[in-house]
Amino acid sequence: MSTLEIKDLHVSIDTEQGEKEILKGVTLTIKTGETHAIMGPNGSGKSTLAATIAGHPRYNVTSGTITLDGEDVLEMSVDERAKAGLFLAMQYPVEVPGVTMTNFLRTAKTAIDGEAPKLRTWTKDVKEAMSKLKIDADFAGRNVNEGFSGGEKKRVEILQLELFKPKFAVLDETDSGLDVDALKVVSEGVNRAQEENEMGTLLITHYTRILRYIKPEFVHVFVDGRVAEQGGPELADRLEEEGYDRYLNVKA
Ligand code: ADP
Ligand code: MG
Ligand code: MG
Repeated sequence: MSTLEIKDLHVSIDTEQGEKEILKGVTLTIKTGETHAIMGPNGSGKSTLAATIAGHPRYNVTSGTITLDGEDVLEMSVDERAKAGLFLAMQYPVEVPGVTMTNFLRTAKTAIDGEAPKLRTWTKDVKEAMSKLKIDADFAGRNVNEGFSGGEKKRVEILQLELFKPKFAVLDETDSGLDVDALKVVSEGVNRAQEENEMGTLLITHYTRILRYIKPEFVHVFVDGRVAEQGGPELADRLEEEGYDRYLNVKA
């Protein structure tokens, strides 16, 4: 079992008006096999947390720690984080012109595992995973995310999750912009990765809709750069009914 531990994390960004603190002391522990949902209003810092875990250079950690089985994640490069077993699905996946999906997946898999996958089984694994995610076989020859629809980009992110087998996945609004069919396919992919690889999941979402398909054991409500409340699945049910107003009203 592995543990991803975030302790009293403070994160700032540089803006034209100077340094702005966005995360104001986030503490969170996730173990492999667990699903945690982070829910919160727009602008509460959810994507900032995801990007900080991924090592985006724009976000300055001013205090606090992130560790993976005791190893300092903040000292790791983006590549080292991937090798250590962290995967981030971004809210806005980037296009990589000139690099085909096939080449990208194989190169990334080789970098993450430290050795090239056996060609025969790899080709079969890719085909199978694509078919389960209802990604057309043509996509293998297309450039990464170039001209993909929002829903196609999300499927391709989950494809990576299935093939790279990370210990922990951070999914930032993977549900946004998906119709119900795509939402189901994507959720099933996450659930498979969780069951087959004991993946720990940090599911970041604004809406409760995806929680019908991916069931978190832990729910954290994020408000103004902090966890304002923690609970079990019943907390998500309450948010579905009441929204975030009660948190915003009590905000200082
Ligand atoms: P969420 O994902 O919960 O909607 P974000 O992490 O995207 O929240 O943003 C949190 C706060 O930080 C917001 O007030 C947002 O405007 C600000 N912020 C985030 N990234 C930037 C940026 N690159 N430049 C300026 N402000 C930013
Ligand atoms: Mg966001
Ligand atoms: Mg904030």
